[in-house]
Order: sequence, then C-alpha cells, then structure tokens
Amino acid sequence: MKVLVINCGSSSLKFQLIDAESEQCLAKGICERIGIDGSMITYAREGGEKERKVTPMPDHTEAIRLVLEALTNPKTGVVASLEEIGAVGHRVVHGGEKFAQSVVLDREVLAAVEECNDLAPLHNPANLIGIEACRKLMPDTPMVGVFDTAFHQTMPEEAYMYGLPYEYYQKYKVRRYGFHGTSHSYVSRRAAEVLGRPYEDLKIIVCHLGNGASISAVKNGRCVDTSMGLTPLEGLMMGTRSGDIDPAIIEFLANKEERNIGEVMAVLNKKSGVLGLSDNLSSDFRDLEDGYNAGDPNAVRAMKAYCYRVAKYIGSYVAAMNGVDVICFTAGIGENAPLVRTSVCEYLGYLGVELDQEANGKRGQDIAITTPESRTTVMVIPTNEELAIARETVRLVK
Ligand code: ADP
Repeated sequence: MKVLVINCGSSSLKFQLIDAESEQCLAKGICERIGIDGSMITYAREGGEKERKVTPMPDHTEAIRLVLEALTNPKTGVVASLEEIGAVGHRVVHGGEKFAQSVVLDREVLAAVEECNDLAPLHNPANLIGIEACRKLMPDTPMVGVFDTAFHQTMPEEAYMYGLPYEYYQKYKVRRYGFHGTSHSYVSRRAAEVLGRPYEDLKIIVCHLGNGASISAVKNGRCVDTSMGLTPLEGLMMGTRSGDIDPAIIEFLANKEERNIGEVMAVLNKKSGVLGLSDNLSSDFRDLEDGYNAGDPNAVRAMKAYCYRVAKYIGSYVAAMNGVDVICFTAGIGENAPLVRTSVCEYLGYLGVELDQEANGKRGQDIAITTPESRTTVMVIPTNEELAIARETVRLVK
C-alpha cells in the first residue's frame, strides 16, 4: 500500500508518499505561503531533481490538489492514478486526553479532535483544515490521525499534574501533555531494535533537539515523563522559545515593558531561547557552533545554557526511572551537532558515559556514540516521523 503523509500548518503543508511494504519514501515536498501572495510548491521524487513552482494557492484544498497533481504527473509523478494511494496519514498536534492512540478519522472523531482546538489554537485548526481538504478531494480514501501527544498519555498523574488548583484540571484539563510523541516513540523503539534488546526491558531517555525541543523518559516501553507541558513552551530552552521560566517573570516584564500578556507571550515563544540569550545572534545551531568555535561570548553563553538545561533534564529523568540504559539524540540538532552532544555528555560522568569521538563525528546513521565499556549507551537515532505516521496509518486501515 502507498500512504500519503500530510503535516499541515496554517500556511504550509509538508507531504510524503511512502511505500508501506518497502518503507521507502517515493516522493516528498512542501507547499508554502498558502493563502498568501507568492505561494509555491516544492516537489521531488526520490532520487530526482527538486522542482519548485510558484502558483496561486488561495486555500489548503488547492494546495492538496496541486500535491495530488504532482504525484500523478505523467512525467515526474510516482503513481498512475489516485487509486494507488491506499490511505492518508495526518499529523495532528493535540489529542488532549481523548486520544491515547492514532485513530481512523470519521465525522464523529473529527468533532472530538475539534474539541481539542482550545488546547492548541495555533496548530489543531490548521491540521483539521488539511484533513477536510483531503476528504474533499479523496472522499473514498481512508484517513488516519496520528497525534503528537498520544505517546505521552501513559505518563502517571504525578508527572502530568501541575501544582495548581485542581479545579482547573477538572474544568479545563490544564495538565502536562507533551509533544513530539511520534518521534519519541519511533526513536526509543528503534534504539532497542538497533541494540537487539527487548523494548520492554529498557530505560530510555530521548532528546529530540530540533527547532522545538523536548526530552522524554521511556521506561519499559511506556512514556513516564516528558519536558513539554500544556503547550510546547515548557521544558528545554529552544531555538526561539524560553522553555521553563519563573512564571512571575511574565507579570514583571509586562509591567516594566508596558506590554500586555499576549505581547509578553510572543516574546517567550518567538524571541527567547538561544536566539534571545545569544542577543539575537541566531536561533540556528550552525551559526551558534561557528560563533562558539570563534569564541563569540553571545554564542558561548547560549550554547552553554542550552546544553546545561538538557543535562539537567536527563538527570531528572534518571531519577524518575531510577536509572537509565540508553540516551538517544535525535532531530536537527541532536543528529547534526556533535558539539552539543559532547557538551551534554560532559555532565554525565556519574552515569559512566564514555564518548567515542570518532563515532560522534558520523552523520545520518543509527549509531552508538559511546565506547563498548561505557556504563550507559548514548546513541544518535535519526528520527523519521513520516515513516512512523505511515506505519500507524497502515496498522489502522488494515
Ligand atoms: P523542526 O523542529 O523545525 O522540525 P529540525 O528537527 O529540522 O526542526 O531542526 C532544525 C534545527 O537543526 C536548525 O534550526 C538547526 O539549529 C539545527 N541543525 C540542522 N542542521 C545542522 C547542522 N549541520 N549542524 C548543527 N545544527 C543543525
């Protein structure tokens, strides 16, 4: 079966067509600036040239129509007709407490997903628009929703409750949910597979370090804690998000800078993290690494605080699980920034971590970066959220 995987945002839409048997990506691309002037689609077949076409996309239905047109194009497409696409898997950011698993999307389920919109007002409505557009153009093709929050639904109450009046949980479901669940699940399973050890026997910490970043503790195959909360703002310092701060800072800054809560929240989401801490040098770790190596104090400050926070979270999850067998690094920074991995591992002497610098310099492989003598194994496992969504989709429609 061929599965179309869709990750739909408010003005962009990423897609991949995956052959479920060989697990190969056949074609992928992105529609950008949907509903804005200058919209464009970028498309590439596996191993083929990237094509970019600027073309009007007033809405997501038009974007999906262009995606389907590209996939069936007689010259550069990869399927003869839409009938070859057996199912569509949609990434959905927030499933609240309702969705601890992926689901087949029908009318009733979609209404339940819509009820989660309050919890992720920037993401969920866009995900739903993408689903509706697909349903319009492929009415007979089964659709599956795969939730970013689902994997973390196994967290125990003591891990997901905030120290707030209980009535806010009862009334509004204010609690910790966590995100990047598809990646944490894929990477932790893959680590067990690569090591040839039963997933159910391992204590694994996954560090998903991309533009957004989160850590999770996976004990005996179940997530027991993760660093993001009600929203993706909690936890690690990120590219532009603050991560954990004293909540009283919000009122303090609102008073000092004469801004309202919305404006301060925008600073915490878009101008903070390593971008803010590096005094606006960059949110991108390629720039920060260059700056660090050149001794730029702005880059050094941001890099050190970032790695310290990662190490501190790892320590707290070692406590939560009473030990750890495997620590995995994944996503843009986790997979590509050896300096970040080295700096984090320097804090992990108490776990008997012995880094293998040669392995740490490699890229794009599922690989252990510690020596065989290392008491704890540290690995790099490139994430593949699209493949994980395709697998879930096939499991549900079969
Ligand atoms: P997203 O959360 O948008 O999916 P990614 O997982 O793709 O993010 O991570 C993007 C980030 O990865 C970039 O902002 C950059 O900081 C980092 N990154 C990508 N390539 C490299 C590299 N070669 N060296 C260091 N950092 C990198």
